[in-house]
Amino acid sequence: MDHPKFVIEASEAETMAEKLGLKSVLHLLPTIVRSSQKLSRVPISNFAVAAAGLCADGRIFVGVNLEFPGLPLHHSVHAEQFLITNLSLYPQTRLKNVVVSAYPCGHCRQFLQEIRGAPNIQILVLQNDGDNDKLDQINGCPDDDRDASFKPLSYFLPHRFGPDDLLDKDVPLILEAQENSLVLDADEINENGNLCNGFSALEERELVSAALEAANRSHAPYSGCPSGVALIDDQGQIYKGSYMESAAYNPSMGPAQAAVIAYVAAGRGGGYEKIVGSVLVEKQGAVVKQEDTVRRLYPYKYYCKQNIFYKHFIGLNVSGNYCYIKDSGNYMIRSSI
Ligand SMILES: [Zn+2]
Repeated sequence: MDHPKFVIEASEAETMAEKLGLKSVLHLLPTIVRSSQKLSRVPISNFAVAAAGLCADGRIFVGVNLEFPGLPLHHSVHAEQFLITNLSLYPQTRLKNVVVSAYPCGHCRQFLQEIRGAPNIQILVLQNDGDNDKLDQINGCPDDDRDASFKPLSYFLPHRFGPDDLLDKDVPLILEAQENSLVLDADEINENGNLCNGFSALEERELVSAALEAANRSHAPYSGCPSGVALIDDQGQIYKGSYMESAAYNPSMGPAQAAVIAYVAAGRGGGYEKIVGSVLVEKQGAVVKQEDTVRRLYPYKYYCKQNIFYKHFIGLNVSGNYCYIKDSGNYMIRSSI
């Protein structure tokens, strides 16, 4: 595959498998993983990881690892987290099989626990020598070479701590419909637009609405602090990222990273300097706040270079980052500058 993608429709996957003479779409996953490793953005480690997930409806989703120079390493995104976040952009999908180019780390094994039925997700780790790339042992699963075949997540994380330990069974989990019922007070939004850099009031309202929608789709049952981020690029395209919590807290996916994943997964390519504005929606007084991370992840020096602002939005020279924060029932607009 010359141009790997982050979402492959079922019909396309079937055609690809057929052309390659493979037994099934499942056998296509290693090829997709290998070709997708080039999509990772790993300037610190230079260790490219890719993961491909096959869903019940036949679609294939891809994830890669992302690293952010200048930031602490815990802001990094792993391929499996990217994959799940990518999946979350398409609600009501059921993940069946995952193939990954390196062993899932502890965080990723834990993060996967947030999916309903997680212990039964089948995982295959490709070997460095490529010996199992053809998945000859999919059906055989020989006992003497267990890692060369699909194994359930319960094999990789046998003694699990997860949602079952903290939540009622009817609480929606990751990849299930969420509704947090956050509402913005329209009166708090400047009719003339609050964002700078040449955004129109219409673009701003769309960006705010996108961030609100992302916050309302956030999975935050453990803290009760849902949040969402929306980014806009220099072409006016908007990308949404929802906060997704883990029962173990640390592996949680922040909305700032989730929005970057949406940007990368959209496949425009190129650097992050194309991101020229962002909006965060979160509750004021929340015990889990994302504002600091948003500021860190989208500083002008890295994501939003001022010369790009001047180039694309003539005559304006101020950042487009704003936080909308709920205050006693109303949302207040606060510049993050
Ligand atoms: Zn990991």
